[in-house]
Amino acid sequence: MRPAARVNRIKPSPSTAAAQRVRELKAAGHTVLDLTVGEPDFDTPDHVKAAAVAAIERGETKYTPVNGTPELRAAIAARLARRHGLRYSSDQITVGGGGKQVIFLALMATVDSPDEVIIPSPYWVSYPDMVLANDGVPVIVDCPEADGFKLTPARLEAAISADTRWLILNTPSNPTGAAYTAEELRGLADVLLAHPQVWVLTDEIYDEISYGHGQLPTLVAVEPRLADRTLITNGVSKTYAMTGWRIGYGAGPAELIGAINTLQSQISSCPSSISQAAAVAALTGDQGFVRDCVAVYQGRRDKAVKLLGDIQGLSCLAPAGGFYLFVNCTSLLGRRTPAGQVLHTDEDVTRYLLDTQRVAVIHGAAYGAPGYFRISFATSGDVLDESCQRIARACADLS
Ligand code: PLP
Repeated sequence: MRPAARVNRIKPSPSTAAAQRVRELKAAGHTVLDLTVGEPDFDTPDHVKAAAVAAIERGETKYTPVNGTPELRAAIAARLARRHGLRYSSDQITVGGGGKQVIFLALMATVDSPDEVIIPSPYWVSYPDMVLANDGVPVIVDCPEADGFKLTPARLEAAISADTRWLILNTPSNPTGAAYTAEELRGLADVLLAHPQVWVLTDEIYDEISYGHGQLPTLVAVEPRLADRTLITNGVSKTYAMTGWRIGYGAGPAELIGAINTLQSQISSCPSSISQAAAVAALTGDQGFVRDCVAVYQGRRDKAVKLLGDIQGLSCLAPAGGFYLFVNCTSLLGRRTPAGQVLHTDEDVTRYLLDTQRVAVIHGAAYGAPGYFRISFATSGDVLDESCQRIARACADLS
């Protein structure tokens, strides 16, 4: 087998690799506290499952329109109108097999070599590889903790070139939990208005999971003049604990959506009809489940931020949204483990935590930010407590 060049350019997701290492340890009989997971630990709500069963019983088991059922596109349009006051017609919305697929297809539909895609770092692991797979050039822009891990107008301006095709914004962010305020988006919008060649992909997959900041704003609502070059992507995976159902969506200019649909027609024909029916129920049904989950996440977040904050050598900002903590471990670098090994990198730190304490986390370099590690709090409060205690022990054992 001779892999295509695009395969050689990319690597499997590090979170998948970490999950594999956890599975191996578990298979060898070890108990591992797994803080690598990128999905809610809750079950899909019953009314959503019931809607899927009803769809099967009604015989909705055939291909749907390439861009999703009219009912689901209407539910998505209604959500965008309700939440942000934005109007999208049904030809400005597409549904795919997860937000991931929609993002990939958007890049596939628009990026040619040597187009550049600006990716603020820390970033979701998939963005650079998706750009590379589609012959683009990822332009990574460092957004340090001192800036709240957020892109500033000055950094954006400096990163834009004549070849810039896209800026990818992820708010709230995986892995940092940073979320942009309307004022911050305003600042970025002012830069973008001066560069009409730059489109914006705003990935809002965690937008319902936010803490004490009210409803999070979206770029197009802040600056409507960017509507004809902005794609909003989202999905039901994180909000409704539906990662396995594989439904995500994009809302943007009809021409871009049409190009995505053309690709989708040759790639998957359409997303699962049954999952689409379930997604309609999720988006249009009672939202109590979402409120309950966010309250639980918030409790875990507050506790974990406190416990980690008490550990000498670690610190982390409280995330504004999502279910991850991005922990600064730079103070541990250069220190020595009881076995005599010096911790040179964040990857050494995560390996040390796994080997000695059986706590699995993901190293920051995977997200473009060496010196950090990511903890997911989409896990039980007990696991989180015990993990923090073990991490504290591991840090105390260093000399
Ligand atoms: N965007 C971000 C930032 C994510 O973290 C994820 C999943 O981990 C996705 C998009 C894709 O989610 P899905 O394909 O399940 O909709």
